[in-house]
Amino acid sequence: MVTTDTVTIKQNVQQILNELPDGAQLVAAAKTREPREILEAVAAGIRIIGENYVQEAERACREIGGRAEWHFIGHLQKNKVKKAVEIFDMIETVDSSEIASEIDKRCAQAGKTMPVLIEINSGRETGKAGVYPEDAEQLIREISTLKNIRVMGLMTMGPLFKKPEDARPCLAETRRVFDRIKELNIPNVEMKYLSMGMTSSYHIALEEGANVIRIGSKIFGERGYKD
Ligand SMILES: *Cc1c(COP(=O)(O)O)cnc(C)c1O
Repeated sequence: MVTTDTVTIKQNVQQILNELPDGAQLVAAAKTREPREILEAVAAGIRIIGENYVQEAERACREIGGRAEWHFIGHLQKNKVKKAVEIFDMIETVDSSEIASEIDKRCAQAGKTMPVLIEINSGRETGKAGVYPEDAEQLIREISTLKNIRVMGLMTMGPLFKKPEDARPCLAETRRVFDRIKELNIPNVEMKYLSMGMTSSYHIALEEGANVIRIGSKIFGERGYKD
């Protein structure tokens, strides 16, 4: 696997932080990275770590713990929810009422409330996670009644195009859904975060209204394998 040295991680983080508009947040997408690398990113100013795998997060969290916040950005399986509820400060990828109910149940047992984002399948790709844009409102209305969950916005990956510019319409549509649901003022729903944009697309995502971006490669270097 290609790794990136300390100086580079620091420079990368600082460069992205300098580009970030006021009020926007940078999540370091840490999949496949060693705790040592993640710690370097934290030392450089990262406040939020995004993890795709509960087990990987558990290991990193043991070493890094409260020095950062932890966002779950992968596909959450029901049998991992209990552990996820212990580790994470936000779950960005809720896309069904089943998984929302399980999170709610486990949070009730743990005595906490989990902020969640609704994942949008903005490219309408079959087999991909997320709800279609037109189904977001219905899902949010359903899970807004759960006591131990708080919907706080939307997240999308968007399709991976060769030309990042091609993803713009998907990001723009997600933004429109975000704005529309915000205007509905659904009780117990606070549309605050719009999480979209990765290494190849974050400039476009920010132009389209993202206030959370999730960056991996541009911080840590190219991943050798396993996406
Ligand atoms: C890996 C990943 C990212 C970051 O991707 P890069 O292209 O490495 O910046 C962002 N969001 C999610 C959900 C990811 O899995």
